Amino acid sequence: MPHTLEEKATELFGADVFSRRVMRQRLPKEIFRGLVRTMDHGEPLDPAVADVVAATMKDWAIERGATHFTHWFQPLTGLTAEKHDSLLAPDGFGGVIFNFSGADLVQGEPDASSFPSGGLRGTFEARGYTAWDPTSPAFLMHGEATVTLCIPTAFVSWTGEALDTKIPLLRSMEAISRQALRILKLFGTDAGVTHVITTVGPEQEYFLVDREMYFQRPDLMMCERTLFGAKPPKGQQLEDHYFGTIPPRALAFMAEVERELWRLGVPVKTRHNEVAPGQFELAPLFEQSHIASDHQMLLMETLKRVATRHGLQALLHEKPFAGVNGSGKHNNWSLATDTGVNLLDPQDETHTNMQFLVMLCAVIRAIDLHADLLRASVASAGNDHRLGANEAPPAIISVFLGDMLRDILEQVEKGLPKRTLRGGTLDLGAKSLPQIPRHSGDRNRTSPFAFTGNKFEFRAVGSTASIAWPNTVLNTIVAESLDWMAGELEKAAGRNPSPAKLQAAVIAVLQGVIKQHKRVIFDGDGYSAEWHAEAGRRGLANLADSVDAFPVMRAKKNLDLFKKYGVLSKSELESRHHILVEKWVKQMVIESEAMITIARTQILPAALEHQALLADTVTSTEAAGEPGAARASHPRQGTARHGRPARRRRPAGDPRQRRSLAAADLSRIAGHEVVGAGRGPPAGDEEAAARPLAMRRPWPARWR
Ligand code: ADP
Ligand code: MG
Repeated sequence: MPHTLEEKATELFGADVFSRRVMRQRLPKEIFRGLVRTMDHGEPLDPAVADVVAATMKDWAIERGATHFTHWFQPLTGLTAEKHDSLLAPDGFGGVIFNFSGADLVQGEPDASSFPSGGLRGTFEARGYTAWDPTSPAFLMHGEATVTLCIPTAFVSWTGEALDTKIPLLRSMEAISRQALRILKLFGTDAGVTHVITTVGPEQEYFLVDREMYFQRPDLMMCERTLFGAKPPKGQQLEDHYFGTIPPRALAFMAEVERELWRLGVPVKTRHNEVAPGQFELAPLFEQSHIASDHQMLLMETLKRVATRHGLQALLHEKPFAGVNGSGKHNNWSLATDTGVNLLDPQDETHTNMQFLVMLCAVIRAIDLHADLLRASVASAGNDHRLGANEAPPAIISVFLGDMLRDILEQVEKGLPKRTLRGGTLDLGAKSLPQIPRHSGDRNRTSPFAFTGNKFEFRAVGSTASIAWPNTVLNTIVAESLDWMAGELEKAAGRNPSPAKLQAAVIAVLQGVIKQHKRVIFDGDGYSAEWHAEAGRRGLANLADSVDAFPVMRAKKNLDLFKKYGVLSKSELESRHHILVEKWVKQMVIESEAMITIARTQILPAALEHQALLADTVTSTEAAGEPGAARASHPRQGTARHGRPARRRRPAGDPRQRRSLAAADLSRIAGHEVVGAGRGPPAGDEEAAARPLAMRRPWPARWR
């Protein structure tokens, strides 16, 4: 029976993942339960469990053609790393056996000094470990005729310092969970909840270019962005690309990307044309932050890998081309209980939903207090071209709430809120069309941190970035605010307050927060000059680029913050600062050197050739006025072949007239304005007239 598309898709999803479902099917019950306790409740892993899991994982992988395994991790390069080991080992009798133990699964030992460590590791003290992260499922990576078992791991130095992006993210998730649980306890909504998780849905923007053309651009190859170039006559002026019909070649590529990602269990959902020509977007459904972060790395790699099979190059750079929009990665973020309740869902009668208002105000407070740190978390050389350029949010971090929430906070400021604004319905004016429900507030695409119904959308993340670090920062700053809120509420209401007492305490605490932090709320046009001025008056940070933003990471308040919540030690934070600055500098140097190389080897020769052609044109034009001179100044005998200007013959006639013709001609040919064209030097200035035209400066004003 032929498969329907639906059946195929359901078979594909997760086909290459050693998922919980596979584990439940294949592992002995007791072992599975033990592993779940580790995965869900952080209980220490029993080595006996690890051995059985490893053996089962190995069989599963071999059945699917795997020959190698690797610990897959995310060092501070911002990329992923893998070192493959064969699953085969000699059996001692001249043959081989497949071999993969619990120890192989749990721990690896890559050289830590060859990855960026920001001074945490040197070549003479290079030991580092990878440690299995059982919360992120193992998967199979298909290469050209190879299958590799990839085991997501954390990467740590021998001294115990986090050398990757995953460990701090996991720590920040624990920090926010602890604090959010305190709030749930106060409201008595914690029944059955063991964890509060953070959820992320990252939307990825990217460009596709034909590979043949890509190879003609050393700047794209070296820097992933053009360093020279001209705007095409038709760019995005007509606004005809966004959501336009997806070109068949791009669609074929997208479909293959999606199939590969589905196999890896990445729930990609949305695909569409973006604003700029050749720009597209791919968005998965949201998942727990650390899984979303792993999947986001796989997504970026898959885009790159699959593109080449279609003769395309996927560009993830924030600004590959000047003059059209750049690419970002919108980081949709929320908080949920492990029982599935979204804590940022305002629900119907929002003004009565005190727990939601506490969560909301904790986020607002966090963003106001740590706007500079959040800004710094998305700083990079690439993002410097994008933020604040009227295509991405400004570098000023503010919060968009929309009419409904803003109205409720205004009510809270005055007392107990009494109403929730409703959107009503929208009548489309044609009887055949349905009346559609209308949101209570508009959308704002200029805000860096916008509330979008039941989540916040952090819109300033760069398209090349790993989302782990911005989310680590976001989780940590919100953890701090929830901690503070819980403390204030516990103080005001006691541990087991009556509903009335709790409500009074909540209103009092929220009033304080709103008064103090409402300056960060802004619902207007974030692209406008007025907002920049207004933000200045409100005292909001405007860290225009990375150079301004990076130092924030070393501020004492931030060292203390990360330390207090056990996310990063002082040395771990400083190492990250060091690495980011170094990477920025290196990227600048690479771009500068690429620019000089291209200027010297491609632009200058072309310019000289062009100049010679112009000089020839001038000479032959001038010669045309003199019978018998054309041959002598013909390009083939002159500059075009030898690259030297042909010897100039002096034509007869009025020098002023000749020069004006030549200058006007030159301006037409070169497409540039020649200053003073059409008006020659005063008659009698023989010296000026004798100089080759290309060498002449713009003529002085007195000649005009
Ligand atoms: P938009 O046009 O608003 O950007 P998209 O569909 O492109 O919408 O992306 C919305 C993203 O937000 C998706 O990745 C979606 O899974 C994610 N998302 C939805 N709900 C949540 C949530 N509770 N937490 C985190 N992300 C969410
Ligand atoms: Mg979108």
